[in-house]
Amino acid sequence: MVASSESGNTRGWLTWVEISESAYVQNLKFFRKRIGTGVELAVVVKANAYGHGWQQIAHLAARHGADSFCVHSLDEALKLRSAGFQQDVLIMSHVPFARLEEAIRGKFRLVIFNQEDLVAVDAASRRLGIPVRIHLKLETGTYRQGIDADHLPGFLDALQQMSFVQLEGVYTHFANIEDTTNHDYAWLQLTRFQEMLQTIRERGVHPLKKHTACSAAILLFPETHFDMVRLGISQYGLWPSRETFVSYKIRFTENGEDVLQPVLTWKTRVVQIKDVPAESTIGYGRTYQTTRPTRIAVLPVGYSDGYDRRLSNQSYVLIRGKRAPVRGRICMNLTMVDVTDIPGVQLEDEVVLIGRQGNEQIRADDLAGMIGTIHYEVVTRINWDIPRIVVP
Ligand SMILES: *Cc1c(COP(=O)(O)O)cnc(C)c1O
Repeated sequence: MVASSESGNTRGWLTWVEISESAYVQNLKFFRKRIGTGVELAVVVKANAYGHGWQQIAHLAARHGADSFCVHSLDEALKLRSAGFQQDVLIMSHVPFARLEEAIRGKFRLVIFNQEDLVAVDAASRRLGIPVRIHLKLETGTYRQGIDADHLPGFLDALQQMSFVQLEGVYTHFANIEDTTNHDYAWLQLTRFQEMLQTIRERGVHPLKKHTACSAAILLFPETHFDMVRLGISQYGLWPSRETFVSYKIRFTENGEDVLQPVLTWKTRVVQIKDVPAESTIGYGRTYQTTRPTRIAVLPVGYSDGYDRRLSNQSYVLIRGKRAPVRGRICMNLTMVDVTDIPGVQLEDEVVLIGRQGNEQIRADDLAGMIGTIHYEVVTRINWDIPRIVVP
């Protein structure tokens, strides 16, 4: 799985993603230092590890000090198990009732956010005779998943009648911690979380793992770390948002710029070079017209690969360390770029779609800005079938 970028491996590919082990390790070390040794470092590897490749990332995470995993679905959790990962896995979304026994046999941590689920999980674990650990999600103001304060006492009463269900954790998730530099709402949620914890303690229930922090909270507020953190986007070297970056710079003296190292580079190669006369149109819909004799390089990557069609005539790629603008519409599997001002471009030259080449860099965030979304979406949608390799 480890290969250098110009190894025989990549020679056979039209497009691929490289994951930098050294960048990943640096990020993980930074977060371990930030949270300390007593806090569980759970890495979020849902959605193919945010498009980075779940197997590659899970291997790196396990090898370099992550304690456990968080995923969205039972299927993601089962894949981790069948790839040999024995660490704890928290399944953060609903497990279909029909598959609860699979989840309990897998010894996963299950999130619960209502009493109906609790009853079903209890029944399934008693049928199997296997105990199950649950993490109760508390509603503190995100209004997505979570049990309301009003329903909490009833839930606890029911739980205390059950012998196979162990409340290992309680958690919540912030609604507005990365989208703003005003963190009042996050503090309100934290206060509600503390109040609900108090309700739980008053019943004599003492969950081992209290957790609230996603990347932005880990970066900005040690008060949110509790016993465990759920580190998503920033393990991959991406700031949750510009607002988080700015808040971080204001609160801490370290140079924020150097704290996180982007882990992912998305590459392709030139598959055709052609000279096009002035006043020719490029591609479908004839949306770009040349104004001079133009040299076009054709790249074997398009919107089906996750290179968004809205980048047509908008973005650029890196070839020989220089920017080559996209000309015309991005096709399903092909993209045309202008290399008129880049001397010496050759067939099969390596092209960077996201990442660094020479002194230039294209960040996932730059592409996200061009198409009105966030970098979370840009990296997650890099087609999951494209090979991912770990490079030093
Ligand atoms: C995805 C997710 C996270 C990770 O968030 P980041 O902003 O990527 O760090 C944490 N907690 C929950 C519940 C999530 O769904």
